Amino acid sequence: MATIIDVLSTATAALAHPRSVEHVVAGQPTSDGAGVKLTRMLTQPLQRRLDPYLMLDAFGTDDPQDYIAGFPDHPHRGFETITYMIAGRMRHRDSAGNEGLLSSGDVQWMTAGRGVIHSELPEQQDGRMEGFQLWLNLPGRDKLRTPWYRDIRHAEIPTFTTPQGVTVRVIAGASHDVEGAVQREATQPLYLDLELPAGARFSQEIPASHNAFVVVYGGELAIADTLVPAQRMAILANEGDGVTLEARAPSRALLIAGKPLGEPIAQYGPFVMNTQDELVQAVRDYQSGAFA
Ligand code: FE
Repeated sequence: MATIIDVLSTATAALAHPRSVEHVVAGQPTSDGAGVKLTRMLTQPLQRRLDPYLMLDAFGTDDPQDYIAGFPDHPHRGFETITYMIAGRMRHRDSAGNEGLLSSGDVQWMTAGRGVIHSELPEQQDGRMEGFQLWLNLPGRDKLRTPWYRDIRHAEIPTFTTPQGVTVRVIAGASHDVEGAVQREATQPLYLDLELPAGARFSQEIPASHNAFVVVYGGELAIADTLVPAQRMAILANEGDGVTLEARAPSRALLIAGKPLGEPIAQYGPFVMNTQDELVQAVRDYQSGAFA
């Protein structure tokens, strides 16, 4: 059920102390799964800086050869994956018995917890495939919890439009009193998808202790005195009371923030734990069939 409300002054008013941009990142072209071409925007060296987030992949192509092989069966343990389809259709099946079809505008939120094996396969032969996959860490105490999964349809994502015509989809957290589709106590994720007409401004309060970044995937945004073009990620400095974005062209962007866990991060491919011993155990459990 979509919530359409008009937010009065708060979304367009400038913040007293907006964050500046610390760093603009282009991402790293790579391929994953059975040969899906993608750009890794949040890479492993940024995991500490952007704690509680571990990875962000962007995919966007009109060439079926770039995506058709998909991601056949593979495991995950110790974190959550959030897949947001901007365009295209992807089918998901996992060892916990969940199955779903993600279509344009849908979000899939999966908590791998103690372990799932899943596949993510395109359900289209041609046409555009575009979207994002974000990895959100779990606190050590929850890394072996029961897996959880939810498909959130486009129409179910709480959405509002500001007086300047900015459309805000609140995937997680809350924005201007609109509660998002998912809440997490330990990491307090904020995940907004923004659609801004040229010239429009949007402000979002963010606690200074939370790490935050903006991924522009259409148009161009001004953040404080930095211009951020499409296909770039801006890491926001941890200061002030939030962020103000101003669209220099019709723009699309993700605004993502979260409360850092401050725990050790040990990663081996699709397993993310706190220690090397826990990684060894994850590989053992996977090989002995404990995820199935
Ligand atoms: Fe996966």
